[in-house]
Amino acid sequence: MNAEELPSLRGELESHGLWANKALGQHFLLDMNITRRIARTAGDIIGKPVIEIGPGPGGLTRALLEAGADPVIAIEKDARFLPLLEPLTEWSGGRLRLVHGDALATDEAALLGTLEARIVSNLPYNIGTPLLVKWLKAGAWRGDMILMFQKEVAQRIVAKPGGSAYGRLAVLAQARCDCRLAFTVPARAFTPPPKIASAVVHLTNLADPYPHLDALERVTAAAFGQRRKMLRSALKALTPDAEALLHTAGLSPTARAEEIDQGGFRELTDAWRRNRL
Ligand code: SAM
Repeated sequence: MNAEELPSLRGELESHGLWANKALGQHFLLDMNITRRIARTAGDIIGKPVIEIGPGPGGLTRALLEAGADPVIAIEKDARFLPLLEPLTEWSGGRLRLVHGDALATDEAALLGTLEARIVSNLPYNIGTPLLVKWLKAGAWRGDMILMFQKEVAQRIVAKPGGSAYGRLAVLAQARCDCRLAFTVPARAFTPPPKIASAVVHLTNLADPYPHLDALERVTAAAFGQRRKMLRSALKALTPDAEALLHTAGLSPTARAEEIDQGGFRELTDAWRRNRL
């Protein structure tokens, strides 16, 4: 099947009298070259379940269906788009499942049942980070995630120790996933264009994901909450005996959060958990 046989995305928006609602982070991709590139980044998805957050006018949805995903479970908060998307269900031979709802409140595990699924999305900018954190904390149903964020957020996800982009988001994301910046997309590629460029991040599950994300979140919140301070001061937000905690974790009390790598944060979190048990 070829999405070229469908009416143009721009024409569909016009004929349904639809415009972008900025409060819902709506910046549409109407160029199928880009949406197909996102779908290709997901690898071979023929017959594989995919969750898409925010199909909007359906450019990425078309690309995912064209690439053979089955089913595509598309969760859209803005009900205005559902009549526009409905014909894609028949076009795809029933492979599209439209869900009207808020992705932040969606229980993906319940939606999927026993299926494993990739998540492939051009995310609404305003809730990209909370959605990612929610999925990182979710259980074993997850497959790869191929997600478009604002470029700065993408850089914070893939950042390595030592730079200003390295912080809580990098440590949390890399505790669960191998995180790779796939490609960037200029602001002008979107309708309407946002103020800044975007980038697609490919997150692949690690073979040994760190299991205690809630605890890691607490530790990174304290460590990066005062990122210019030495850890022996910053971690006082977590425990009165920060020096002892750092000693147990084998870390220098004078180090700063941005110098600590993934292994260091795992040690620190394990030491803090043991202390509290
Ligand atoms: N996928 C489309 C594309 O690439 O052209 C639209 C992407 S647009 C950046 C984000 C989409 O997410 C919009 O369709 C918006 O209505 C939807 N959205 C915003 N908040 C949402 C939420 N909480 N739950 C589900 N969808 C949401």
